[in-house]
Amino acid sequence: MSFQPLMNTYNRLSVAFERGEGAWIYDTDGNKYLDALCGIAVTGLGHAHPAVTKAISDQAARLIHCSNLYTIPLQEQLAEKLTTVSGMDNVFFGNSGAEANEAAIKLARRYGHKKGVETPTIIVMENAFHGRTLATLSATGNRSAQAGFEPLVSGFVRVPYDDMEAIRQIAGKNPNVVAILVEPVQGEGGVHIPAPDYLNQLRSICDENEWLLMLDEVQTGNGRTGRYFAFQHTDIMPDVVTTAKGLANGVPIGACLARGEAAELFTPGTHGTTYGGNPLACAAALAVVDTIQADNLCKHADELGQYIVDQFQQKLGDAPYIKEIRGKGLMIGIELTEAGSELAVLAKVKGVLLNVTGGGRVVRMLPPLIMSRNEADLLIHTVSQLIRVYAGDERSD
Ligand SMILES: *Cc1c(COP(=O)(O)O)cnc(C)c1O
Repeated sequence: MSFQPLMNTYNRLSVAFERGEGAWIYDTDGNKYLDALCGIAVTGLGHAHPAVTKAISDQAARLIHCSNLYTIPLQEQLAEKLTTVSGMDNVFFGNSGAEANEAAIKLARRYGHKKGVETPTIIVMENAFHGRTLATLSATGNRSAQAGFEPLVSGFVRVPYDDMEAIRQIAGKNPNVVAILVEPVQGEGGVHIPAPDYLNQLRSICDENEWLLMLDEVQTGNGRTGRYFAFQHTDIMPDVVTTAKGLANGVPIGACLARGEAAELFTPGTHGTTYGGNPLACAAALAVVDTIQADNLCKHADELGQYIVDQFQQKLGDAPYIKEIRGKGLMIGIELTEAGSELAVLAKVKGVLLNVTGGGRVVRMLPPLIMSRNEADLLIHTVSQLIRVYAGDERSD
Protein backbone atom coordinates (compact mmCIF):
# COMPACT_ATOMS: atom_id res chain seq x y z
CA MET A 1 0.00 0.00 0.00
CA SER A 2 1.37 3.40 -0.86
CA PHE A 3 0.49 6.70 0.77
CA GLN A 4 0.37 10.30 -0.36
CA PRO A 5 2.81 12.05 1.98
CA LEU A 6 0.14 14.56 3.08
CA MET A 7 -2.66 13.37 5.34
CA ASN A 8 -5.97 13.44 3.55
CA THR A 9 -7.76 16.28 5.38
CA TYR A 10 -8.73 18.61 2.51
CA ASN A 11 -10.35 18.37 -0.91
CA ARG A 12 -8.04 20.89 -2.53
CA LEU A 13 -8.58 22.77 -5.78
CA SER A 14 -5.78 22.09 -8.24
CA VAL A 15 -4.39 25.65 -8.21
CA ALA A 16 -1.22 26.68 -6.29
CA PHE A 17 -0.39 30.31 -5.52
CA GLU A 18 3.05 31.81 -5.38
CA ARG A 19 2.58 35.48 -4.62
CA GLY A 20 0.01 38.10 -3.81
CA GLU A 21 -0.39 41.85 -3.79
CA GLY A 22 -3.30 43.69 -2.18
CA ALA A 23 -6.59 42.08 -3.18
CA TRP A 24 -4.88 40.00 -5.90
CA ILE A 25 -3.18 36.62 -5.80
CA TYR A 26 -1.13 34.95 -8.57
CA ASP A 27 -0.84 31.24 -9.33
CA THR A 28 2.23 29.32 -10.45
CA ASP A 29 1.14 29.69 -14.11
CA GLY A 30 0.99 33.49 -13.80
CA ASN A 31 -2.83 33.75 -13.73
CA LYS A 32 -4.25 36.36 -11.38
CA TYR A 33 -7.32 36.12 -9.14
CA LEU A 34 -9.30 38.62 -7.12
CA ASP A 35 -9.03 37.18 -3.61
CA ALA A 36 -12.49 37.58 -2.10
CA LEU A 37 -11.81 34.97 0.56
CA CYS A 38 -8.57 36.18 2.17
CA GLY A 39 -7.56 32.65 3.11
CA ILE A 40 -10.89 32.55 5.02
CA ALA A 41 -10.86 35.99 6.68
CA VAL A 42 -7.13 35.97 7.45
CA THR A 43 -5.40 38.47 5.16
CA GLY A 44 -7.64 41.44 5.92
CA LEU A 45 -4.98 43.92 4.84
CA GLY A 46 -4.52 42.09 1.54
CA HIS A 47 -1.42 40.21 0.46
CA ALA A 48 2.11 41.51 1.03
CA HIS A 49 0.95 44.64 2.86
CA PRO A 50 4.11 46.77 3.15
CA ALA A 51 3.62 47.62 6.85
CA VAL A 52 3.24 43.95 7.77
CA THR A 53 6.09 42.84 5.51
CA LYS A 54 8.38 45.41 7.12
CA ALA A 55 7.33 44.50 10.67
CA ILE A 56 7.92 40.79 10.00
CA SER A 57 11.27 41.19 8.24
CA ASP A 58 12.63 43.67 10.79
CA GLN A 59 11.55 41.43 13.65
CA ALA A 60 12.80 38.22 11.97
CA ALA A 61 16.24 39.82 11.71
CA ARG A 62 16.15 40.70 15.41
CA LEU A 63 14.35 37.99 17.45
CA ILE A 64 11.71 35.49 16.31
CA HIS A 65 11.16 33.48 19.43
CA CYS A 66 11.40 33.99 23.14
CA SER A 67 9.90 31.77 25.81
CA ASN A 68 7.06 33.03 27.96
CA LEU A 69 9.39 32.42 30.90
CA TYR A 70 10.75 35.88 30.06
CA THR A 71 9.27 39.33 29.56
CA ILE A 72 8.25 39.91 25.93
CA PRO A 73 7.82 43.66 25.38
CA LEU A 74 6.09 43.27 21.99
CA GLN A 75 3.53 40.95 23.61
CA GLU A 76 2.88 43.55 26.28
CA GLN A 77 2.50 46.28 23.67
CA LEU A 78 0.04 44.18 21.69
CA ALA A 79 -1.92 43.37 24.86
CA GLU A 80 -2.08 47.09 25.66
CA LYS A 81 -3.29 47.88 22.16
CA LEU A 82 -5.96 45.16 22.03
CA THR A 83 -7.33 45.90 25.48
CA THR A 84 -7.58 49.58 24.53
CA VAL A 85 -9.31 48.81 21.23
CA SER A 86 -11.77 46.39 22.89
CA GLY A 87 -12.28 47.78 26.41
CA MET A 88 -11.33 44.36 27.81
CA ASP A 89 -8.92 44.03 30.77
CA ASN A 90 -6.31 41.49 29.70
CA VAL A 91 -5.35 38.92 27.11
CA PHE A 92 -3.73 35.52 26.65
CA PHE A 93 -2.01 34.86 23.31
CA GLY A 94 -2.01 31.47 21.56
CA ASN A 95 -1.42 30.49 17.94
CA SER A 96 -4.86 29.90 16.42
CA GLY A 97 -8.57 30.41 16.77
CA ALA A 98 -9.06 26.99 18.31
CA GLU A 99 -6.41 27.73 20.93
CA ALA A 100 -8.03 31.06 21.77
CA ASN A 101 -11.33 29.22 22.27
CA GLU A 102 -9.64 26.51 24.35
CA ALA A 103 -8.45 29.29 26.66
CA ALA A 104 -12.01 30.66 26.84
CA ILE A 105 -13.44 27.21 27.63
CA LYS A 106 -10.84 26.73 30.37
CA LEU A 107 -11.71 30.16 31.80
CA ALA A 108 -15.40 29.18 31.93
CA ARG A 109 -14.57 25.94 33.72
CA ARG A 110 -12.41 27.72 36.25
CA TYR A 111 -15.12 30.28 36.77
CA GLY A 112 -17.57 27.45 37.46
CA HIS A 113 -15.31 25.66 39.90
CA LYS A 114 -14.70 28.93 41.74
CA LYS A 115 -18.48 29.23 42.15
CA GLY A 116 -18.70 25.66 43.44
CA VAL A 117 -20.11 24.14 40.23
CA GLU A 118 -18.38 20.79 39.86
CA THR A 119 -19.47 20.03 36.28
CA PRO A 120 -19.51 23.45 34.63
CA THR A 121 -21.48 23.54 31.39
CA ILE A 122 -21.30 26.00 28.51
CA ILE A 123 -24.26 26.85 26.27
CA VAL A 124 -23.24 26.63 22.58
CA MET A 125 -25.20 26.99 19.34
CA GLU A 126 -26.41 24.79 16.52
CA ASN A 127 -24.36 25.41 13.36
CA ALA A 128 -21.57 27.01 15.38
CA PHE A 129 -17.91 26.62 14.42
CA HIS A 130 -15.27 26.95 17.13
CA GLY A 131 -12.35 24.86 15.85
CA ARG A 132 -10.98 21.34 15.47
CA THR A 133 -9.30 20.52 18.77
CA LEU A 134 -11.32 18.12 20.88
CA ALA A 135 -12.93 20.70 23.14
CA THR A 136 -13.65 23.19 20.35
CA LEU A 137 -14.90 20.38 18.10
CA SER A 138 -17.26 19.38 20.89
CA ALA A 139 -18.46 23.00 21.07
CA THR A 140 -18.90 23.10 17.29
CA GLY A 141 -22.48 22.52 16.13
CA ASN A 142 -21.83 20.24 13.19
CA ARG A 143 -22.44 16.53 13.63
CA SER A 144 -20.54 15.53 10.51
CA ALA A 145 -17.39 17.29 11.79
CA GLN A 146 -17.75 15.45 15.11
CA ALA A 147 -18.62 12.00 13.73
CA GLY A 148 -15.97 9.39 14.43
CA PHE A 149 -14.23 11.43 17.13
CA GLU A 150 -16.36 10.35 20.06
CA PRO A 151 -16.09 10.44 23.01
CA LEU A 152 -16.48 14.20 22.71
CA VAL A 153 -15.59 16.54 25.53
CA SER A 154 -18.57 16.88 27.86
CA GLY A 155 -19.82 20.08 29.43
CA PHE A 156 -21.64 21.65 26.49
CA VAL A 157 -25.37 22.05 25.97
CA ARG A 158 -26.67 23.13 22.57
CA VAL A 159 -29.50 25.45 21.55
CA PRO A 160 -30.55 26.94 18.19
CA TYR A 161 -28.74 30.15 17.16
CA ASP A 162 -30.63 33.40 17.66
CA ASP A 163 -33.23 31.73 19.89
CA MET A 164 -33.53 33.37 23.32
CA GLU A 165 -36.48 31.23 24.37
CA ALA A 166 -34.34 28.06 24.15
CA ILE A 167 -31.76 29.66 26.45
CA ARG A 168 -34.43 30.79 28.92
CA GLN A 169 -35.64 27.20 29.16
CA ILE A 170 -32.16 26.03 30.12
CA ALA A 171 -31.68 28.89 32.58
CA GLY A 172 -34.59 27.61 34.63
CA LYS A 173 -33.46 24.00 34.61
CA ASN A 174 -29.70 23.57 34.47
CA PRO A 175 -27.77 24.86 37.50
CA ASN A 176 -24.46 23.71 35.95
CA VAL A 177 -24.48 26.36 33.23
CA VAL A 178 -21.70 28.91 33.75
CA ALA A 179 -21.26 30.55 30.34
CA ILE A 180 -22.54 31.10 26.81
CA LEU A 181 -20.08 30.75 23.90
CA VAL A 182 -21.38 32.28 20.67
CA GLU A 183 -20.30 33.85 17.37
CA PRO A 184 -21.72 37.37 16.85
CA VAL A 185 -22.23 36.35 13.21
CA GLN A 186 -21.95 32.66 12.31
CA GLY A 187 -19.25 32.35 9.66
CA GLU A 188 -18.68 28.70 8.72
CA GLY A 189 -22.35 28.03 9.47
CA GLY A 190 -23.27 30.22 6.48
CA VAL A 191 -23.01 33.95 7.38
CA HIS A 192 -25.98 34.00 9.75
CA ILE A 193 -26.70 37.39 11.27
CA PRO A 194 -28.82 37.27 14.42
CA ALA A 195 -31.56 39.74 15.45
CA PRO A 196 -30.11 43.20 16.20
CA ASP A 197 -30.76 42.87 19.95
CA TYR A 198 -29.45 39.27 20.26
CA LEU A 199 -26.18 40.21 21.97
CA ASN A 200 -28.00 42.61 24.33
CA GLN A 201 -30.43 39.85 25.28
CA LEU A 202 -27.57 37.39 25.80
CA ARG A 203 -25.85 39.96 28.02
CA SER A 204 -29.00 40.35 30.13
CA ILE A 205 -29.57 36.64 30.60
CA CYS A 206 -25.87 36.18 31.50
CA ASP A 207 -26.15 38.98 34.08
CA GLU A 208 -29.33 37.53 35.59
CA ASN A 209 -27.73 34.08 35.95
CA GLU A 210 -24.11 35.08 36.66
CA TRP A 211 -22.91 33.39 33.47
CA LEU A 212 -19.95 34.56 31.41
CA LEU A 213 -20.79 35.92 27.96
CA MET A 214 -18.00 34.60 25.72
CA LEU A 215 -17.88 35.80 22.11
CA ASP A 216 -16.02 33.86 19.45
CA GLU A 217 -14.76 36.69 17.24
CA VAL A 218 -12.10 34.55 15.56
CA GLN A 219 -13.68 35.38 12.21
CA THR A 220 -15.72 38.53 12.98
CA GLY A 221 -12.86 40.39 14.71
CA ASN A 222 -10.18 42.70 13.38
CA GLY A 223 -12.46 44.95 11.34
CA ARG A 224 -14.21 42.21 9.39
CA THR A 225 -17.79 43.33 10.17
CA GLY A 226 -17.15 47.08 10.05
CA ARG A 227 -16.16 47.58 13.71
CA TYR A 228 -12.90 46.37 15.26
CA PHE A 229 -14.95 43.69 17.06
CA ALA A 230 -18.50 42.80 15.99
CA PHE A 231 -19.81 43.34 19.54
CA GLN A 232 -18.92 47.02 19.07
CA HIS A 233 -21.99 47.37 16.85
CA THR A 234 -23.83 47.22 20.21
CA ASP A 235 -23.26 48.92 23.57
CA ILE A 236 -22.70 45.72 25.56
CA MET A 237 -19.39 44.35 26.86
CA PRO A 238 -18.67 40.61 26.84
CA ASP A 239 -16.72 38.87 29.64
CA VAL A 240 -14.49 36.96 27.21
CA VAL A 241 -13.68 37.59 23.53
CA THR A 242 -11.55 35.37 21.32
CA THR A 243 -10.00 36.36 18.03
CA ALA A 244 -7.36 35.09 15.60
CA LYS A 245 -7.87 35.04 11.85
CA GLY A 246 -7.31 38.65 10.78
CA LEU A 247 -5.11 39.60 13.71
CA ALA A 248 -1.66 39.23 12.15
CA ASN A 249 -2.59 39.06 8.44
CA GLY A 250 -1.48 35.45 8.10
CA VAL A 251 1.18 34.99 10.77
CA PRO A 252 -0.37 32.45 13.18
CA ILE A 253 -1.73 34.03 16.36
CA GLY A 254 -4.80 33.75 18.58
CA ALA A 255 -5.98 35.91 21.45
CA CYS A 256 -8.35 35.34 24.34
CA LEU A 257 -9.39 38.63 25.96
CA ALA A 258 -11.10 38.77 29.35
CA ARG A 259 -12.73 41.35 31.55
CA GLY A 260 -13.65 41.67 35.23
CA GLU A 261 -13.87 38.42 37.17
CA ALA A 262 -12.92 36.41 34.06
CA ALA A 263 -9.66 38.35 33.82
CA GLU A 264 -8.52 37.06 37.23
CA LEU A 265 -9.05 33.32 36.77
CA PHE A 266 -5.70 32.25 35.32
CA THR A 267 -2.67 32.20 37.57
CA PRO A 268 0.87 30.96 36.83
CA GLY A 269 0.75 27.26 35.98
CA THR A 270 -2.95 27.17 35.02
CA HIS A 271 -2.44 27.82 31.31
CA GLY A 272 0.47 28.27 28.93
CA THR A 273 1.98 27.93 25.49
CA THR A 274 5.38 27.56 23.86
CA TYR A 275 4.86 29.70 20.78
CA GLY A 276 1.94 31.91 21.78
CA GLY A 277 2.70 35.63 21.86
CA ASN A 278 6.15 35.27 20.29
CA PRO A 279 7.88 38.46 19.13
CA LEU A 280 7.39 37.74 15.41
CA ALA A 281 3.61 37.23 15.59
CA CYS A 282 3.19 40.18 17.95
CA ALA A 283 5.19 42.50 15.67
CA ALA A 284 2.97 41.49 12.75
CA ALA A 285 -0.22 41.96 14.78
CA LEU A 286 0.90 45.38 16.03
CA ALA A 287 1.40 46.46 12.41
CA VAL A 288 -2.08 45.13 11.54
CA VAL A 289 -3.91 46.90 14.37
CA ASP A 290 -2.01 50.16 13.69
CA THR A 291 -2.86 50.01 9.99
CA ILE A 292 -6.54 49.21 10.58
CA GLN A 293 -6.74 52.28 12.82
CA ALA A 294 -4.54 54.67 10.82
CA ASP A 295 -6.30 53.89 7.53
CA ASN A 296 -9.84 53.87 9.00
CA LEU A 297 -10.36 50.39 7.63
CA CYS A 298 -13.31 49.51 9.89
CA LYS A 299 -15.31 52.37 8.42
CA HIS A 300 -14.24 51.41 4.92
CA ALA A 301 -15.27 47.77 5.54
CA ASP A 302 -18.64 48.95 6.84
CA GLU A 303 -19.35 51.17 3.82
CA LEU A 304 -17.93 48.89 1.15
CA GLY A 305 -19.77 45.91 2.64
CA GLN A 306 -23.09 47.75 2.52
CA TYR A 307 -22.40 48.78 -1.07
CA ILE A 308 -21.59 45.20 -2.12
CA VAL A 309 -24.70 43.78 -0.46
CA ASP A 310 -26.91 46.52 -2.00
CA GLN A 311 -25.49 45.82 -5.43
CA PHE A 312 -25.99 42.06 -5.12
CA GLN A 313 -29.51 42.77 -3.92
CA GLN A 314 -30.20 44.86 -7.01
CA LYS A 315 -28.73 42.32 -9.40
CA LEU A 316 -29.92 39.07 -7.82
CA GLY A 317 -32.34 39.94 -5.02
CA ASP A 318 -35.54 39.06 -6.88
CA ALA A 319 -34.22 35.94 -8.67
CA PRO A 320 -36.13 32.74 -7.85
CA TYR A 321 -32.91 30.79 -7.17
CA ILE A 322 -31.79 33.23 -4.45
CA LYS A 323 -33.07 32.65 -0.93
CA GLU A 324 -31.37 35.56 0.83
CA ILE A 325 -28.46 37.98 0.52
CA ARG A 326 -26.82 38.83 3.84
CA GLY A 327 -23.87 40.83 5.00
CA LYS A 328 -22.24 42.53 7.95
CA GLY A 329 -19.30 44.63 6.83
CA LEU A 330 -17.14 42.50 4.57
CA MET A 331 -18.66 39.21 5.68
CA ILE A 332 -21.07 38.49 2.85
CA GLY A 333 -23.27 35.49 2.02
CA ILE A 334 -25.58 34.79 -0.89
CA GLU A 335 -27.88 31.93 0.05
CA LEU A 336 -29.16 29.88 -2.87
CA THR A 337 -32.35 27.84 -2.83
CA GLU A 338 -30.34 24.76 -3.85
CA ALA A 339 -26.81 23.49 -3.26
CA GLY A 340 -24.13 25.06 -5.45
CA SER A 341 -20.78 23.87 -4.13
CA GLU A 342 -19.33 23.88 -7.68
CA LEU A 343 -19.54 27.67 -7.67
CA ALA A 344 -16.20 27.90 -5.85
CA VAL A 345 -14.48 26.10 -8.75
CA LEU A 346 -16.42 28.04 -11.40
CA ALA A 347 -15.53 31.35 -9.71
CA LYS A 348 -11.87 30.34 -9.68
CA VAL A 349 -12.03 29.77 -13.44
CA LYS A 350 -13.44 33.31 -13.76
CA GLY A 351 -10.57 34.68 -11.66
CA VAL A 352 -12.34 35.12 -8.30
CA LEU A 353 -11.64 33.25 -5.05
CA LEU A 354 -14.62 32.63 -2.79
CA ASN A 355 -16.08 29.59 -1.06
CA VAL A 356 -19.40 27.93 -0.52
CA THR A 357 -20.45 27.06 3.01
CA GLY A 358 -23.62 26.50 5.04
CA GLY A 359 -24.37 23.04 3.65
CA GLY A 360 -23.20 23.99 0.14
CA ARG A 361 -25.87 26.66 -0.26
CA VAL A 362 -24.19 29.89 0.84
CA VAL A 363 -21.73 31.59 -1.49
CA ARG A 364 -19.44 33.32 0.98
CA MET A 365 -17.19 36.29 0.33
CA LEU A 366 -14.70 37.72 2.82
CA PRO A 367 -12.87 40.37 0.79
CA PRO A 368 -9.89 42.23 2.23
CA LEU A 369 -10.57 45.43 4.18
CA ILE A 370 -8.33 47.28 1.69
CA MET A 371 -10.48 46.35 -1.34
CA SER A 372 -11.16 49.33 -3.62
CA ARG A 373 -14.52 50.28 -5.06
CA ASN A 374 -13.36 49.21 -8.55
CA GLU A 375 -12.30 45.82 -7.27
CA ALA A 376 -15.64 45.49 -5.49
CA ASP A 377 -17.45 46.31 -8.75
CA LEU A 378 -15.48 43.60 -10.53
CA LEU A 379 -16.36 41.13 -7.77
CA ILE A 380 -20.06 42.02 -7.89
CA HIS A 381 -20.21 41.80 -11.67
CA THR A 382 -18.31 38.50 -11.90
CA VAL A 383 -20.15 36.75 -9.09
CA SER A 384 -23.67 37.85 -10.03
CA GLN A 385 -23.06 36.87 -13.65
CA LEU A 386 -21.64 33.53 -12.55
CA ILE A 387 -24.62 32.72 -10.33
CA ARG A 388 -27.07 33.69 -13.10
CA VAL A 389 -25.36 31.45 -15.64
CA TYR A 390 -25.16 28.63 -13.10
CA ALA A 391 -28.90 28.93 -12.45
CA GLY A 392 -29.68 29.04 -16.18
CA ASP A 393 -30.85 32.67 -15.99
CA GLU A 394 -30.28 34.46 -19.31
CA ARG A 395 -30.25 38.00 -17.91
CA SER A 396 -27.06 39.99 -17.92
CA ASP A 397 -25.92 43.59 -17.33
C1 LIG B 1 -11.81 29.65 11.92
C2 LIG B 1 -12.58 29.72 13.16
C3 LIG B 1 -12.13 29.07 14.33
C4 LIG B 1 -10.91 28.17 14.35
O1 LIG B 1 -9.74 28.87 14.07
P1 LIG B 1 -8.37 28.03 13.76
O2 LIG B 1 -7.34 29.11 13.67
O3 LIG B 1 -8.61 27.31 12.47
O4 LIG B 1 -8.16 27.12 14.87
C5 LIG B 1 -12.85 29.24 15.48
N1 LIG B 1 -13.97 30.00 15.51
C6 LIG B 1 -14.43 30.64 14.41
C7 LIG B 1 -15.66 31.47 14.51
C8 LIG B 1 -13.77 30.52 13.20
O5 LIG B 1 -14.24 31.11 12.11
